[in-house]
Amino acid sequence: MFIVEIASECAPVAKVGGLADVVYGLTRELSIRGNDVEIILPKYDVMRYDQIWGLTVTYGDLLVPWYGSAIHCTVWFGFVHGHKCFFIDPHSSDNYFNRKLYYGSHDDPVRFAFFCKAALEFLLKTNKRPNVIHCHDWQTGLVPVLLFEMYQSLGMWEQRVCFTIHNFKHQGVTGGEVLWATGLGRPEYFFDYEKMRDNNNPFALNFTKGAIVYSNFVTTVSPHHAWETRFTSQGYGLEPTLEKYQGKYGGILNGVEYDVWNPEIDRFIPAQYSKDSIEEKYRNKEALRDRLWLNKNIKPVISYIGRLDGQKGLDLIYHAAFFALQRSAQFILLGLGSNQEINDRFGFLKNQLNDNPDCHIEIGFDEELSHLIYAGSDMVIVPSVYEPCGLTQMIALKYGTIPVVRSVGGLTNTVFDRDFSEKPWWERNGYTFRDLNNQGIESAMVRGIGLYFDFPQHFRQLMLNGMQYDFSWNHPGTHYLNIFEYIRHK
Ligand code: ADP
Repeated sequence: MFIVEIASECAPVAKVGGLADVVYGLTRELSIRGNDVEIILPKYDVMRYDQIWGLTVTYGDLLVPWYGSAIHCTVWFGFVHGHKCFFIDPHSSDNYFNRKLYYGSHDDPVRFAFFCKAALEFLLKTNKRPNVIHCHDWQTGLVPVLLFEMYQSLGMWEQRVCFTIHNFKHQGVTGGEVLWATGLGRPEYFFDYEKMRDNNNPFALNFTKGAIVYSNFVTTVSPHHAWETRFTSQGYGLEPTLEKYQGKYGGILNGVEYDVWNPEIDRFIPAQYSKDSIEEKYRNKEALRDRLWLNKNIKPVISYIGRLDGQKGLDLIYHAAFFALQRSAQFILLGLGSNQEINDRFGFLKNQLNDNPDCHIEIGFDEELSHLIYAGSDMVIVPSVYEPCGLTQMIALKYGTIPVVRSVGGLTNTVFDRDFSEKPWWERNGYTFRDLNNQGIESAMVRGIGLYFDFPQHFRQLMLNGMQYDFSWNHPGTHYLNIFEYIRHK
């Protein structure tokens, strides 16, 4: 099958969050299975150019119709870890992608509307006719709209679109200007609740809604989140639209890149280990404690690794630090705030606990240290308010580190409580809680810490249970291909 991934991120060249990992991981999996996969990205000035091999101009004169005139673009080609990537580079005074940032400009909807238009124009002009175009999040939401309202009649009759929503909170809600810019025009037609009109703001268009309406299939990144977005407020206003299109909507759990996240081959940890040599994990715990100047005692190490953002349950993370110490555990935090206020708040926590030899707070982003923390910890906490999929818990499981999570979104699909799950004991792999308050997380932590001290053999068994799970791209790869085959022949 010929598949084109159109996205605003792809690891490791242009990465802000999990979206980048999914685009890369899925491309790799689909390519291994013999599909022809190409990626189209904007050519940002802030990309990691050292991660692109053989970057050359492949199409010098792409004229993209824009506001009744046209913007001249250069399309570049390069390999990202062996995968074919095209980069759209517009030349105009707006400098859409040369702003030293990925997102956060006042005109983001216009920037990415342009990207959608340019990507389709590129496919049209180069006679590329993929079987499936796979788009991601609101930044590419106009692709299916433009394809079926415009480009189909220009010759792209056979193309089908699958749209994946990674984050419902950001939907690309904007005014009608993009209709003029892209040439879609006809505001009376598009400002319709059956088309792109936002469900909450009658004066706005919604890119994600448009994508749901027009795409042949829509997915989000875990089955449970697919349910939450329909039946709880986590659809952020899109619930009625998802209800209407439920027949073409579902959840597929993301995969983990086991080439990178695997304790058997991890080059960032001093002692590699597997299920059969799990006692080696202890050497990583020693190394972690050495590195962070923590006491070497019989206490369990409980960690948090992740962005510090309201989504992640900041109050509970804060509380968990004190609760762990109070219950004779050690606590490590590695995270970077999504704004200065959050960094200040956790900086204050750092000052408060700085002298405690059982605690380390690290404000920053450190990939290498994160590997050592996954390997050297006994438990990780993920007390998210909402979590479309979540990678932290899946990585932790692979490293024999027990996840203590709030049962939402993808966490519900991957972590099964040792004491209360309906699964057989050998499939239980962690601790879960529901209530978004201190008592909630305490109820789970206290059980994990208790098991560690009182029944170490059972704790070890729980670690082994987790390590046998397979959250590689193998299963998601099959699910996506099934969907692609289905829409292709519909
Ligand atoms: P999200 O996509 O919402 O940030 P995920 O759990 O899907 O959350 O993915 C987070 C990924 O980013 C994990 O691989 C985690 O290890 C990594 N990560 C997050 N914050 C940091 C940090 N401060 N330092 C190192 N790695 C981090």
